[in-house]
Amino acid sequence: HHPKTIQLLTGLLRDWQYEVEHSLSYQRAFELCETNVQTQRPFKAIFIDWEIEPSEARAFAQKVTDLYQQQNSPIALIVTGYNIDFIEPEMLPTGNMHLMRKPFTPQSVFNAISHFSRFKFSNHDEDFEDKLPLFQYQHILVAEDFKINQEVIKEILSTMRLKVTFAENGAEAVKRNQREHFDLILMDLSMPEMDGFEATKTIRETHPNIPIIALTAAAMEEDRTHAFSVGIDGYLTKPIDRVELASTLQHYIQASAYTERVKNSASTNRLKLDERNLPQKGKLLIVDDVKENIQILANALKDEYDVMVSKDGAAALQIAESEHSPDLILLDIMMPNIDGFEVCRALKNNPVTQNIPIIFVTSLSQDDDEERGLELGAVDYITKPYHMSIVKSRIRNHLNLKRKADLLENLSKIDSLTHIANRRLFDDTLTIEAKRLARSGQPLSVIMLDIDYFKLFNDKYGHGLGDDCLQKVAGALKKCINRPTDLLARYGGEEFVVLLPETDIEGAMVVAEALRKSVEEANITHQFSKVTNHVTISVGVSTGILNNRSEADTLIKLADDALYKSKTAGRNQVSMSTL
Ligand code: GH3
Ligand code: MG
Ligand code: MG
Repeated sequence: HHPKTIQLLTGLLRDWQYEVEHSLSYQRAFELCETNVQTQRPFKAIFIDWEIEPSEARAFAQKVTDLYQQQNSPIALIVTGYNIDFIEPEMLPTGNMHLMRKPFTPQSVFNAISHFSRFKFSNHDEDFEDKLPLFQYQHILVAEDFKINQEVIKEILSTMRLKVTFAENGAEAVKRNQREHFDLILMDLSMPEMDGFEATKTIRETHPNIPIIALTAAAMEEDRTHAFSVGIDGYLTKPIDRVELASTLQHYIQASAYTERVKNSASTNRLKLDERNLPQKGKLLIVDDVKENIQILANALKDEYDVMVSKDGAAALQIAESEHSPDLILLDIMMPNIDGFEVCRALKNNPVTQNIPIIFVTSLSQDDDEERGLELGAVDYITKPYHMSIVKSRIRNHLNLKRKADLLENLSKIDSLTHIANRRLFDDTLTIEAKRLARSGQPLSVIMLDIDYFKLFNDKYGHGLGDDCLQKVAGALKKCINRPTDLLARYGGEEFVVLLPETDIEGAMVVAEALRKSVEEANITHQFSKVTNHVTISVGVSTGILNNRSEADTLIKLADDALYKSKTAGRNQVSMSTL
């Protein structure tokens, strides 16, 4: 009934990307409803002023409810007024309607919509069920006064195997937390009697370490700062997103598995054990042309990760290719010169960088930009303004996924005896490098080497010591391979191979001699060698500028020929042949 109210409300809702229509008369409003239902675009929510003409409001609400029921389409009716309490009981709204008292605030409007949006409009994405973590029945205290939100939260948390206790307001939360042990608290910020800020402050006096995550309406930016200042650890917005909630919880409490399916797969347990051997601190690269954005992210992430930053795409590509290559990249889309999409494409086209996960961080929120990013191979997409707890948990998840993927790759590409690359990885790398070098016109060098009189070693000392010897030789060889692009692999039996991209024959000969010397200096006793009294190797080197993949095979053959030359010339030496 009030143009001013309509103006305020539509302004707010449009800010939140809702499509809004308005009307000053019930007659006209109902016509709008009918047209929208006919064109298959029914309203999702209707705000009704209930104060001036309650009986007409009630009639209108009834008509709309009937209309939507016929169409089987959900509708949220939100009733507004200053003095709803004074309305005669028989004129009060009935059924599933939400009351919103005037004067309203952005938060109360947001709450009103979110009560319905998750409950009635949500398309339950069944796929997500699969990806939810399963916890170990940890006990969560949820301070939340609205029943509908309680139901939603309870449903999500119990799906993830968490135990839930509710507190109706801040004061009850404080009391409960004193009496019982909880593993984590989810805290609504606006509650009657004692709000979430006050409750958190009180809890912090006795429980400095219990994780407290705020649940709140999105519109309140100043609340965020306030929340962190009273000791809140994380910040989630309503309507509650189950995936975001799950990943935030994982940050604070231990999950035991993801789904039954994953838990039962044989490889997961083995990977879990191996994960402990991995370096703990991941390396992040933040790419953004705005210094302030870099600072915010870098500050929030620097304790958990080694953070590198870059203000433009070209520099980012260089870092990614270097030996300081990051484990994950946070990439801004809008940048001068090379934009984020270009950077992403370049990273994905380079075998050295193609497996680095990329998360776009952007203020663009168009769906097709997200689609474009994901099509280019980004793993995730975070829109600004973002919540740091969400950024953190996404990074953590993707790093974990990356580690698992890496491990799986490694399991099939690492030689189990010597723990250096196996033949398969060597073949794959040779293919990639041959292609790359054919394009750039740079030379490739190959070193083949073979342990001298190893059959005698095996025969006299036995296979166990033979295996030990192979490990020691691999260790001695590894010491000489320093450039990240060089590859040492076990070619088979007691033969090893080294790939040296962009290395000419002189350089390769230096490396070959270093390898030979390193094995000699390892001083592995071999009383039965006909060369000397310790283990030695014979080495063959070849170098060439390739035009295609098959020339790489020729190069291997030449290195093998050179190795044979070393053998016949007396072993424990280096020979070469060039393309
Ligand atoms: P040469 O100096 O001419 O290379 O003589 P060699 O005895 O080293 O060469 P040969 O190829 O005749 O023997 C290779 C031996 O390496 C045969 C096998 O007993 C041993 N061998 C190959 N793979 C393994 C392995 O995985 N473990 C152990 N213990 N021995 C291996
Ligand atoms: Mg040999
Ligand atoms: Mg051999």
